[in-house]
Amino acid sequence: MVLEALDGNISSGGIYSRRCIEQIQEILEARYVLLTTSCTHSLELALMALELKPGDEVLLPSFTFVSTANAVMLRGAKPVFVEINESTFNLDAESIKQELTSATVGIVPVHYAGVACDMDKIGQIALESKIWVVEDAAQAFYAHYKGKALGTLGAFGCFSFHNTKNIVCGEGGALVTDSEELFHKAEICREKGTNRSAFLRNEVDKYTWLQHGSSYILAEPLAALLLAQLGRLEQILKERRRIHTRYNEAMAPLVRKGYVRVQQIPEGCKSNYHIFCFLVAHEQERDKLLAHLSKQGIGATFHYVPLHTSPFAQANLGTGKGDFPVTEKVASTLVRLPLFPSLTNEQADRVVDAVKSFFYS
Ligand SMILES: *Cc1c(COP(=O)(O)O)cnc(C)c1O
Repeated sequence: MVLEALDGNISSGGIYSRRCIEQIQEILEARYVLLTTSCTHSLELALMALELKPGDEVLLPSFTFVSTANAVMLRGAKPVFVEINESTFNLDAESIKQELTSATVGIVPVHYAGVACDMDKIGQIALESKIWVVEDAAQAFYAHYKGKALGTLGAFGCFSFHNTKNIVCGEGGALVTDSEELFHKAEICREKGTNRSAFLRNEVDKYTWLQHGSSYILAEPLAALLLAQLGRLEQILKERRRIHTRYNEAMAPLVRKGYVRVQQIPEGCKSNYHIFCFLVAHEQERDKLLAHLSKQGIGATFHYVPLHTSPFAQANLGTGKGDFPVTEKVASTLVRLPLFPSLTNEQADRVVDAVKSFFYS
């Protein structure tokens, strides 16, 4: 498919992009889909289309990837960090209320590990405060909340097809919305601020510069890769569920003994099993465990350095260590076990045996 794609139009908007868009619309039950070069760019595009401006404040977790906050700062607006919940590692709805001010214009919930944030509460707060919600669903493609696909619950949903995610095309992303108005705005921003997309659909006879914009369009060869991956969606999900479930069961004795705590998946949330993670007692133990696993050739990892403790946030937002105790605790004690579709049951068992040997030694 990729070789075929290289033979024709290799820029954008061709047959492979169109087929990806149709499939994503069907999979997510989403009205409008734009393919982008990354979730980072989807987030930037969403906030550009929503006309975020200097002086505006946007609520988001500190426990996230830098792109969530960068998208806000690139528009000259202020990211305001919110504490996470200690069992889901997702935005805590009560803490959102505490951070609302008259300058708050939106919330960017991050569905960590493909587990939904409390979207009923977040939606309620947004409605009452007349602010928008943009979902950072980078990790949440084909995960659900009360029967609805994540990324379709806010004004915009932002997805990643980066190599590290469930469905991949090297580097890529999507922006999803149900609003025709927002779709057209985002489409113009994505085409360098021009109405070229409308021109290509023969809706106007020439295209021109209408507003600020940039270039965030996925190229056809990557769309061909993405199309092949979308065709394997159910298979990929099945393998990830197999490994996630196996880890969960095998780790249960350690959970019962209180050595570790696994991420909770609340009622009504259907995970896409993007990450299997757990917390240990403290940071030194985490680092020792990772070293113990590494010595046995097991690539367990951790993330994120909380954004509020980063040098950039400290210098520009005046935040610092101690501001968000739950975030700091989770970030400093979290362990992610290897999780990819070709991991066998025997390999998964070997991983858990290695974890057990650490605690039982
Ligand atoms: C991966 C990720 C991103 C960035 O995605 P890219 O496609 O690599 O730009 C943004 N937010 C979260 C929560 C992520 O996990």
